[in-house]
Amino acid sequence: MGETSTGGGICPVCLAALPPAPAVGRPPRYCSTACRRVAELEIRRINERLADLEARAAHVRMHGKTSCFAKPHGPGAALATINQEIARQRARLREVLDT
Ligand SMILES: [Zn+2]
Repeated sequence: MGETSTGGGICPVCLAALPPAPAVGRPPRYCSTACRRVAELEIRRINERLADLEARAAHVRMHGKTSCFAKPHGPGAALATINQEIARQRARLREVLDT
């Protein structure tokens, strides 16, 4: 997790400007307590989604078939679709965690 905010950063939740860093302590990652809380809840949801997607990808790898939504496109396409979604979720997780 980066601690790179030195002022001029934006809140990853509402995109408002972050308050200036305090003289002592870590620079703020979110603009407010409410946004920090929203981020915590979003991080939890993303983690749950990632666990589900990783389980789906493992299922396709182990059984060579899909269990649901990507069925008509076959296992190869299903795995590619799942991996794309995993990458998207991880990117958002980094955005929320690393301002
Ligand atoms: Zn905010």
